[in-house]
This record gives sequence, structure tokens and C-alpha cells, in this order.
Amino acid sequence: MGQTLELFGIDDVRFLGAEDRSNGGKVYRLYRFEYEGSLPVSCPRCGGKLYRHGTRMISLIAMPIQDIPAAYSIEFPRLRCRACGAMESPHIKGVAEGRRCTEKALISIARRGLSHSFEAVAADYPATSNTIRNIFLEYFHEHESEHHRTAPALIGITQKTLGRNDSVYMVFDLEHGVLFDMLSADVRDSVQEFFLSVESPERILQIRSSVTLPLDNGIIALMPDAEVIPDGSWEEAYIDQIRFIQQESLKKGYSFEVFRIRTLYKH
Ligand SMILES: [Zn+2]
Repeated sequence: MGQTLELFGIDDVRFLGAEDRSNGGKVYRLYRFEYEGSLPVSCPRCGGKLYRHGTRMISLIAMPIQDIPAAYSIEFPRLRCRACGAMESPHIKGVAEGRRCTEKALISIARRGLSHSFEAVAADYPATSNTIRNIFLEYFHEHESEHHRTAPALIGITQKTLGRNDSVYMVFDLEHGVLFDMLSADVRDSVQEFFLSVESPERILQIRSSVTLPLDNGIIALMPDAEVIPDGSWEEAYIDQIRFIQQESLKKGYSFEVFRIRTLYKH
């Protein structure tokens, strides 16, 4: 043990063999393993004794090995509690919760999904771009709260239409010259929620908006030094970014949500 962790990123397994497979024209290598780690002895639900109850096989998306997309299959025992009927199976170190991919592959997909199309990422894994997209979104939503974003001192807000039917408020960080957030203009309170969720709103000195913002007094009180100015003249300097976002949103396969995530975390 320990060696498979180094080589394959998973532990407590014995390597059985590898073979080339192909799926929809994509060639990948399937590495087969069996679990050889310890097994839980008592039921986590009632404390009763666990007995072996057949085996199960899982398939995982893994990191490419020698530039070839890789999948793992792992056979492991199932255990059953005779007292309450609960089924148990051991957790395999290195396998992501939810068991669709290894932890390493999950993190790599999440990182690369920020800067590459899902089609490009999918080329390196035994998975379709749709599967990659789902893995990316799940990961992002689980970790959304970890993205701490400090309010910029200068904010510019404009309302634009994306694609066919999404109307959004684009929030620019005029202090650093980048798109900061996009809020659905079709969702009530999205602007209020933005100012409530941003870190250190008291930093904000100026909000230059080309549209009238629905801001209540409670929100304004969060940023005592902020001045709200009706002004869209700054948009001229951001016209390339705005155009890029509008064009990208027209491309096939980008829902507003996916597009928003991709755009925000590009920088
Ligand atoms: Zn039990």
C-alpha cells in the first residue's frame, strides 16, 4: 500500500491489470483494481455486526496517464447489517465523494473548466463534455461559498441582454478594470443580494450606474461612504469586454449560469 497512491492517486487497492478501450471513438485505458483495505466491523446506524454481502464495482474518471485518458474500475465488498438491514461499503482514499472520479481528476476538471471549454477538457478524460460540465458545476456549487470577494472601491453597473432571453446587470470593478459579477436582471432582489454578499461593502466609494438600481436604505447603510452616480460614460472603456461577453453567450451550450461562472473566474 502507498505505492498505488503514488502511481494512481488511490490507496488500499491492488492493481489487477489494464486494457485499452474505446468509447464513441475516444480511446482510453481502463485500469482495474480491487479493494484490499480494512472493512468496517460494526453498523454505523445501530452498532450491529456487519457481514459480507457480495461485491460491487465502481468506474471512475481518472487523470490521464502518459497522456492517455484513463478510467479506473474498482471492485470492493459490500457489507450488510443483519440487525437493521443497512448496507455499507468502505471509503477508498483518493476517490471523490459521490464516486464519479478520483479526487485529483475532480480538482483538475474544476480548475481547467474555469479557463477552457468543456469540450477541450473532455478530450483528456473518458467522459463527454456534458459529464465534464456537470462535474464542474457540482464542484463549483459545493465550493461557491469559499470564493471570498472583497468589494472594489469603484463599481460600474450596466444592464445588457445576453443571448436570446437573459437580461443581466454586469458589475464591473472599475478599480482593477475587470468584470466583477453578473446578476440576473430577471431575478428580484439580485442587486440587493449582491451588495449583501460581497465582502467589506464599506470599501465602496462610488457606484456608477447607467440604470436605476433597486437599492433599499438597508443596503445603502452597508456602504456609508458610497456615492451612487447615474453615469454610463465608463462603459466606453469596457466595450470590448461587454461585446466579448455578449458574443460568447450566444455560442451554443452556455447557459447563463455556466457562462457566468466561466467569465467571473477567468481572471
Ligand atoms: Zn445496523
